[in-house]
Amino acid sequence: MPRIGVIGAGSAVFSMRLIGDLVKSEELSGSEVVLMDVDEERLRAVEILAKAFVESTGADLRFRSTTSLEDAIRDSDFVINTALVGGHEYLEKVRKIGEKYGYYRGIDAQEFNMVSDYYTMGNFNQLAYFVEIAEKIAELSPNAWLIQAANPVFEGVTLITRAVPQVKVVGFCHGHHGVFKIAQALGLDPREIDWQVAGFNHAIWLSRFRYKGEDAYHLIEKWRDENLKDWKPKDPFDDQLSPMAFEMLKTYGMMPIGDTVRNSSWRYHRNLREKIRWYGDPWGGADSELGWEWYKKTLKMVVKAVEFFARKAAEGVRVFDPKVAKKLTLSAGIPEEISKWIDSLTSDEMSGEQHVPFIRAITTGNPERLVVNVKNDGVLNDIPDDVVVEVPAIVDGEGIHPEKIDPPLKDEVVRLYLYPRLSRMELAVRAFLERRIDYIKEILSRDPRTMSEGQAEAVLEEIASLPENEPMRRHYGI
Ligand code: NAD
Repeated sequence: MPRIGVIGAGSAVFSMRLIGDLVKSEELSGSEVVLMDVDEERLRAVEILAKAFVESTGADLRFRSTTSLEDAIRDSDFVINTALVGGHEYLEKVRKIGEKYGYYRGIDAQEFNMVSDYYTMGNFNQLAYFVEIAEKIAELSPNAWLIQAANPVFEGVTLITRAVPQVKVVGFCHGHHGVFKIAQALGLDPREIDWQVAGFNHAIWLSRFRYKGEDAYHLIEKWRDENLKDWKPKDPFDDQLSPMAFEMLKTYGMMPIGDTVRNSSWRYHRNLREKIRWYGDPWGGADSELGWEWYKKTLKMVVKAVEFFARKAAEGVRVFDPKVAKKLTLSAGIPEEISKWIDSLTSDEMSGEQHVPFIRAITTGNPERLVVNVKNDGVLNDIPDDVVVEVPAIVDGEGIHPEKIDPPLKDEVVRLYLYPRLSRMELAVRAFLERRIDYIKEILSRDPRTMSEGQAEAVLEEIASLPENEPMRRHYGI
C-alpha cells in the first residue's frame, strides 16, 4: 500500500480532511502516512488527532511524524505539499511593506491575481521550497507523485515542471466546487449536470454547462435577472453569484468559477468601497482588509480548536464521539462553525478535496474524474504546451488523462483574461529561473499603483532586506 508524505502537515484543516478521506477510502487500508512540519507543536497536535481518529474508527492506517524533509520524502509514493513558508505572519509583514509604498493590499495583489495568500513575487522562499521538494523527490523517490496544494499553484506547478521536469507533478484546488454552488442556487440536481471548467488555477471558466442534455447557461442568466438584486454574501468567500461574477460573465462571455471571481481587474479592487460594491456588504470579498481579517481569525480559531481537541485526546478523552465532541465544543466556547471539521470527519461524505481520490485512482486503477493542474501539452489549443492548465481529467492506474474541452473557451476568455495572466506568470517564473529581478520590476512597472521607478525599487529593496529573505538576496545578487 502507498506511503504518503505530507509536507506542512501542521496545516490543521487540510491534514484532518486528508486523514478523514483516507479513513473513508478502504481501498487504501494499510497505507503509511508520514506527517512533516517545521512547527513541532502543530505537528504533534495533528499526529495525536490522526492516531485518535484512526483508533476510533478501527481503520488500518499508520501515522508517524518527522521534522525532516528527507525522511518524509524518502521511499514515498506520493508527496503532498501544503506548507506555507513563513506562515501568514510573513505574508502580512510583506503586505504591510507594500502598503507603506502605496500598494493597497500589497505588491502581490495584482490584476487577475488578488488572492491574499497567493504570493508570486513577495515570498521567494515559498517558490524555492517547491523546487527543493521536487529536487529531493527526484533524488530520493524518483517514482513518487508530487501533489501540490500550497499556493501559488499556477506559478508553482509551472515552475516545478520547468526546473525539475523528471518529477511527476499535479496541482489541486477546490475552486471548481463553484459549479455545484451555481447548481444548488438554480435548484438543479447535481447528478444531471454535464459540466467542464478550463483555464489556469484561480482563472477557470465554465466552458460547458448542460442540464438533462440541454444547454443550461440561460438558467444562470435567469437567476441573475430574478435574484441578483436581493443577493447578500453569507461570508467573505461567498462570491460565486456576486455582482462581480455576473460582471465577468458580461465582459468575457463565460461564467468565472471559484476563486476566479476574486481575480477580476483593477477597477473592481481599487479600494474597499469598490470591493464592497462588487463583492458584497459588509466585507467586500475575501481579499479586502475586512474579509482577510475574518479569514485569519477563523484560521487561528481552527488551530486553537485542533490543539484543544489534541490535548483532550492525549488525556484519553474520546473526542471523536459526536456527543463528546459537542460537549467539548460548548465547554471551550468553540464556535459551531469552527467545530464542523469534526462533524465532517465523522460523516460518511468525503471532504471534497481531491488529494486522496487522486491517490486512490492511481493506486487501485479505478478511474476518478478530477480537476487537475498539469502541463498543457495540447489540451487547450490556444495555450503553449509548457504552461500548466487547470482542466477536468480522468485519473486511473495509467496516470492523468485530461478531457477534450468541448465547447472550447471563448475567445474573450483566452485573449482578454488568460493571456495577460499567462504573461505575468511567465515573468514571475522566469525571474526565478533566470535570476532576473528586473522581471519582477517589470511586473511592478505594469501595475497602475506604481507612480515611479523609485517606488518599485524601494518596495523591493525593503522586502529583500528582511532577515528571512537572505536567500532571495543571494539568488538575485542584490
Ligand atoms: P498555515 O500556515 O496554517 O499552515 C502551513 C503549515 O506549513 C504550517 O503548519 C507551517 O508550520 C508549515 N510550514 C512552514 N514552513 C515549512 C517548511 N519549510 N517545511 C514544512 N512545513 C512548513 O497555512 P494554510 O492557511 O493552511 O495554507 C497552506 C498553503 O495551502 C498556502 O500556500 C495556501 O495558500 C494553500 N491553500 C491551498 C488551497 C488549495 O485548494 N490548493 C486552499 C487553501 C489554502
